[in-house]
Amino acid sequence: GRTTTAVKLVLLGEAAVGKSSLVLRFVNNDFEENKEPTIGAAFLTQKCTIGERTIKFEIWDTAGQERFASLAPMYYRNAQAALVVYDITKPASFIKARHWVKELREQATKGIVIALCGNKYDLTVNDEAEEDSGEVSETSKRKVSVNEGQTLAEEEGLMFFETSAKTAYNVNEVFLAIGKKIPEA
Ligand code: GDP
Ligand code: MG
Repeated sequence: GRTTTAVKLVLLGEAAVGKSSLVLRFVNNDFEENKEPTIGAAFLTQKCTIGERTIKFEIWDTAGQERFASLAPMYYRNAQAALVVYDITKPASFIKARHWVKELREQATKGIVIALCGNKYDLTVNDEAEEDSGEVSETSKRKVSVNEGQTLAEEEGLMFFETSAKTAYNVNEVFLAIGKKIPEA
């Protein structure tokens, strides 16, 4: 029979990497070019179906600003899943993502399912050529290579996706992949 599993999921990452935009894309299939910053945290829910199961995501979208960082444990405590987001055009946001992963591994529930997202994939151009040559083309805004993201994910046992909230690239896929990793209650 059909079962519904509630999954508490938290989004973490530097300000402006696109956390709220990923949620807006997943929940409303929408995008805003100049999205207003999140203050504190926002709560949204969205259901998705995976085979016979319905997963109800209870999403805590946190603010990335440093002044809110001390509140993060309230949101990741008891979370079964986390989405750690960086912006592939902002190396500092990748360093911040590393720190969030470390903090989650130390402080969050053991067995938390973590997905690492390199967002703003749409800002790369000619990406196939990039991948073939291993070099970043001059017109691409990419500053964090696919390999850097993959390596961090492998080291820390994370799922890894490059995403675009703008074009919807890989957004549903991230949430589906997380849902599939959540054990049945
Ligand atoms: P947050 O602070 O991490 O929640 O980031 P927001 O979702 O508020 O997004 C910050 C800015 O980046 C906004 O102007 C968004 O429109 C923009 N943005 C978010 N995701 C993407 C994306 O995938 N591609 C591009 N080009 N811009 C994005
Ligand atoms: Mg936000």
